[in-house]
Amino acid sequence: MAVSPSGPHVSSIAILSPTTTNGLGKSTITESFDKRKKSVLSPQPTQPADREITEQLNDNVKQKYIKEKKLGEGTYAVVFLGHLRTDPSSFVAIKKIKVNAEYKDGLSMDAIREVKYLQELSHPNIIALHDVFSSKDQNLNLVLEYLPRGDLEMLIRDTHIHYGAADVKSWMGMLARGVWFCHENFVLHRDIKPNNLLIAADGEVKLADFGLARSFADPYLNMTHQVITRWYRPPELLFGARQYSGAVDVWSMGMVFAELLLRVPFVAGNSDLDQISKICEAFGTPTEENWPGVTRLPNYIPADATHIALLQGREFFLRQFPTAGPVGADLLMSMCTLDPQKRNTAFGVLKHGWWSTEPKPTQKQDLPRKSGGTKKMGHDLTRRGGELEETPFKNATRQLDFNTARDY
Ligand code: AMP
Repeated sequence: MAVSPSGPHVSSIAILSPTTTNGLGKSTITESFDKRKKSVLSPQPTQPADREITEQLNDNVKQKYIKEKKLGEGTYAVVFLGHLRTDPSSFVAIKKIKVNAEYKDGLSMDAIREVKYLQELSHPNIIALHDVFSSKDQNLNLVLEYLPRGDLEMLIRDTHIHYGAADVKSWMGMLARGVWFCHENFVLHRDIKPNNLLIAADGEVKLADFGLARSFADPYLNMTHQVITRWYRPPELLFGARQYSGAVDVWSMGMVFAELLLRVPFVAGNSDLDQISKICEAFGTPTEENWPGVTRLPNYIPADATHIALLQGREFFLRQFPTAGPVGADLLMSMCTLDPQKRNTAFGVLKHGWWSTEPKPTQKQDLPRKSGGTKKMGHDLTRRGGELEETPFKNATRQLDFNTARDY
């Protein structure tokens, strides 16, 4: 059992003061972020009495949990399994942020971002933040919803796992709902990729790792273009755009969709330059005609006149992704549009006709699981009418062998 989210108890740490919302329920996090960032990085002197109360509150939160074995390690955190002291069957994941040399108080920007945005966003497809406390070494600990079934990357890469169009539709639906909710609340995730999509015990996919997230409430604010893992990074960021929108996450979602279908990353560059040239090869060369303003982007590289590839149309997507069916291919194409202004939005993705075409999305409890967990029943696989190649990572033809005639 996982701990039920009762809203993060974060009053014990300066940055974690309750955030404000406007009358529409939209977050106004941008306004308060800079102020709070300052207060974290250069804490204001507190009165001894205040400090005592703060420490007491922090201890109360810390005492609620027992830390167990290490679950994994990322670049800026170590993640432990934990449980409620009062209920050993209520599991949590405790993410202990590593001390960052940049900030002597141990708080990195990634950690601040993660806490700040997870506090704001409560949705079934976004990992829940239950609590935050600091440990004696001044490390920040995030108490997160425990998601024991691994991530989408594990499922994609595991050649023993068979899945079909209905499963892809189910996973994509959960991803799209999570991203839509972020964008509704003016939050860009900026690192959507299969291994940031964690899976709950009941099969629900949850968007995790908000270390690169930020608010986009102000469209004129310059933002960094150095976000999003390269293979999932949209062309506008590769060209150095400083003002961008939810379209960056929609491109990443499109890349996840393509990868779920192919079981291999679709555009896998080995440098930023290689990434942009692979995008051009795959989808066509951006020009002023198909993407007005592209040539004015800071890192735009003029295309070699002899190598201008025409924009790919529906035929290409249908050919490359037959398992998505014509409507699915159309949805994918709308997510992989080069010009971010013409690219689909998360809301548009949710409204697309693909969700109501056959096959219906698999019920979350029937979705394939990572090896080592409870295996799916044999009839589930025959229902899909297809098997994967033994070595599915050779080329684009190693798509899932769905029964395409039936699985649209
Ligand atoms: P991260 O630093 O978020 O990439 O986490 C490192 C590793 O810890 C992940 O690859 C997972 O194996 C594991 N992990 C992270 N968060 C959770 C969670 N909420 N529940 C279970 N395992 C997790």
